[in-house]
Amino acid sequence: MSIVFTRLQGALRQSIINKAIPVRCFTRGTVFHSEEAEVGLEESDKNDLVDPAKDRRKPIPFETSIRYVASAAFKETYQGNPVWKLYRRNHKGQIPPRKTRKTCIRNGIISTGNPCPICRDEYLVLDHRNTTLLKQFISEFNGAIISYQKTGICQRQHQNLLIAFHRAKDYGTITFDVPFREYDYSEWYKPEIKA
Ligand SMILES: [Zn+2]
Repeated sequence: MSIVFTRLQGALRQSIINKAIPVRCFTRGTVFHSEEAEVGLEESDKNDLVDPAKDRRKPIPFETSIRYVASAAFKETYQGNPVWKLYRRNHKGQIPPRKTRKTCIRNGIISTGNPCPICRDEYLVLDHRNTTLLKQFISEFNGAIISYQKTGICQRQHQNLLIAFHRAKDYGTITFDVPFREYDYSEWYKPEIKA
């Protein structure tokens, strides 16, 4: 009896396994590759398939970015405008969405046809030491960061911008005004000291 039972159990398990594998294969995330594309492709070959203009997997050091921002090539590209000035967001319909897109770069590769002003130029690196670039995003009227609704930079780069901005304030690489306050110090003195 017990032998029959264990065999039956084994057969059951076998049937479950046999069924489970195909079910797992046909989930929504499964991507079917054509065989020609897969055969003979190594990792280095796959990297070559990426458009080099959209490849952002190699990080650019901030020193390079600082030299680029000061160069004649930068001046010629942006014609003295802030980097976000001539950028126009692509969106569906007439009214732009409240927020800009979450990110332009996914897995180190530009995933959109209309990347934001920071993501589209490889050599723009937001860093607290890259002050020339940072100042283009700071309002001259109140010293605050200009809204992403105006500059059009994506949410991830806006976070990087805020980090660089506050870090620049902390490290003292940018100057900013603090409101002047007048205090009546006589209120703080003890009467005997005052006399
Ligand atoms: Zn972006």
